[in-house]
Amino acid sequence: MKMLWITDDFLPHLGGSRLLYYQTIKCLPPGEVTILTKRRPGWREFDARETIPIKRGFFKKLSIHPLLNELPVYVEMMALGACRSLRLRPDVIVCGELLPTGLVGRMLSLAGGAPYLVYIHGEEVNVLKNLRGEKALAFSVLRAADAVVATSTPAHGEALRQGVRPDRLHLLTPAVDDYFFNAKPCPERARSRYGLEGKMVLLTVGRLVERKGHELVIRALPQMRREFPDLAYLIVGAGPMEEKLERVAREEGVSGAVIFAGRLSREELVECYAACDVFVMPHRELPDGDTEGAGIVFLEAAALGKPVIAGITGGTGDSVLDGETGFRVDSTSPQEIVQRASQLLRDRALARRMGEAGRRGVLRERRWEDRAQELRRICLDMVRRKSSESTIRRHR
Ligand code: GDP
Repeated sequence: MKMLWITDDFLPHLGGSRLLYYQTIKCLPPGEVTILTKRRPGWREFDARETIPIKRGFFKKLSIHPLLNELPVYVEMMALGACRSLRLRPDVIVCGELLPTGLVGRMLSLAGGAPYLVYIHGEEVNVLKNLRGEKALAFSVLRAADAVVATSTPAHGEALRQGVRPDRLHLLTPAVDDYFFNAKPCPERARSRYGLEGKMVLLTVGRLVERKGHELVIRALPQMRREFPDLAYLIVGAGPMEEKLERVAREEGVSGAVIFAGRLSREELVECYAACDVFVMPHRELPDGDTEGAGIVFLEAAALGKPVIAGITGGTGDSVLDGETGFRVDSTSPQEIVQRASQLLRDRALARRMGEAGRRGVLRERRWEDRAQELRRICLDMVRRKSSESTIRRHR
């Protein structure tokens, strides 16, 4: 089976959905997938190292009028997609997003006859709710798709509400890279690198963007440090909020207790997970609808046996079982963050139980290999259905 996989964004630009595509594709038979995506800083080196065939476009937006801004992206994606389709003759087109990718996939499917599958993650639906024209277009792409893959329970519910046929809708939550299960990290190395010896450590991993809630943790630190004077907060990741977060730490008088580790290698990242006492990311929904998707970082922390604290919005309910593998807190309430984090720092037996429950859960249910096989089965079904539909049409 040949798949043309179109996505608006891909590695090396980090992010949950990009990682999900990458890990799934890596577990599919070699040569089965060709990717069409966007150029991103570092793409040349990345593509040169990879065995997956990747074709990149510029996909550059304009900033002249909301109705025209995406036009060049559609034109270029459609042109490159048509060239790839002619050359590859794919059996299936996989679209990473509803727009612009899903619409391009739909047109390529109409032109070439290959069925198309579209991913829905949940966070994009929230953003679309505020954009009337795009919303109607995106949901029509969803309803017309030969298959829809939702990556979280809320996304699955939204697809059903939008009229996607239940027999064409599938829930495939993200998994965890085997590396996180099998690694034998040395937590002492991270502790000595960041001066955390003998301290209690809270950890957040992720891009430094507002919705992840780093600021809320920093603001909660002074109160928590009254009970745990040695408490430190380690932040892994890079992003536009760094300066603001440093300022907040200064304002709260906890600069010395907040460590910005920046973007780390996977080996260093695993050491940080292993070194923390509690993984905390009290994400929230922003006024423009931006919200957390599945939250792969919670699964990674669980794979390392750590209890986690998440927000209650978005799609993280599949990754964090409230009261079992950690807590989901109302991130608009600093008091809830303080209370749950302090509880886990105080009650080491509870923290250990939750961490172990999390690790057992991800080991049992969160392997990329299983997700890739399931996706392949869905694609083969689409191809079979499409070909039997066209046989019926020919005989009419
Ligand atoms: P999203 O970016 O909002 O989609 O957040 P997710 O939690 O779903 O996924 C983020 C992914 O990026 C996780 O697998 C993280 O481990 C990874 N990540 C984030 N920051 C870093 C970093 O500094 N280094 C490394 N190696 N991975 C990172």
